[in-house]
Amino acid sequence: MRKKIIAGNWKMNLDYSESKSLIQNIAKIESDFNANAEIVIFPSMPYLSVFHELTKDIDWINIGSQNCYFEKSGAFTGETSPVQLKSLGIKYCLVGHSERRDYFSEDNVVLAKKIKALLEEGITPIFCCGEQLQVREANVYKEFIMKQVEESLFDLSVQDIARVVIAYEPVWAIGTGKTATAQQAQEIHQLIRNRIAKDFGDKTANEMSILYGGSMKAENARELLAQKDIDGGLIGGASLNADTFAQISISYSE
Ligand code: PEP
Repeated sequence: MRKKIIAGNWKMNLDYSESKSLIQNIAKIESDFNANAEIVIFPSMPYLSVFHELTKDIDWINIGSQNCYFEKSGAFTGETSPVQLKSLGIKYCLVGHSERRDYFSEDNVVLAKKIKALLEEGITPIFCCGEQLQVREANVYKEFIMKQVEESLFDLSVQDIARVVIAYEPVWAIGTGKTATAQQAQEIHQLIRNRIAKDFGDKTANEMSILYGGSMKAENARELLAQKDIDGGLIGGASLNADTFAQISISYSE
């Protein structure tokens, strides 16, 4: 069964006390979240352990990592391995966010290695893909997104790809206030699902969660989240405000 996920990517925002009070407020959201509809929060790396402890008795909140490296251990200063994340009890990790691709030159091949390393430790990768504005305007966005998906995910076995969550995040909509229309988002979500079905079968494709990200906020969330192939949201800016995040989450869990 497809899981509904509302994820908050805090990026490199908020100090420790601001982050702690935000997570405490999110934990108070009164919703019908359960094992099949959950919230995943991605705070800055130093807070992972404390926030995981703080929320570990709430079954509908998970704490995830914004990044990882693909090696298990060794001389990789500044990096964190999936083995280390697992030892904290972390269950989700973002992979291939456009900011990682742009500022840290992560390509589809490196991302494929990270995904495999995470799956080996039983951590769910949330694999982000999406096109820049010029790619959309040149009308080659479908091919572009399919290449990202194929190069990072298609070497996996059926069992492994079924454990991946995908997030479609058009780069032109991230942090810009411009959102893809519900139709634009649904078109890509369906395309991704159909492409997975072609190589991995309908059952696998139908059970995978595909999230939308890109300036999702309380005003546009309902329409986006109502689309047939949209199984949740990856939310940046609007996840930094507990009330807005609660509004989006509650509307989806109803
Ligand atoms: C993101 O960072 O993944 C994101 C979607 O950001 P925003 O919601 O601010 O566009």
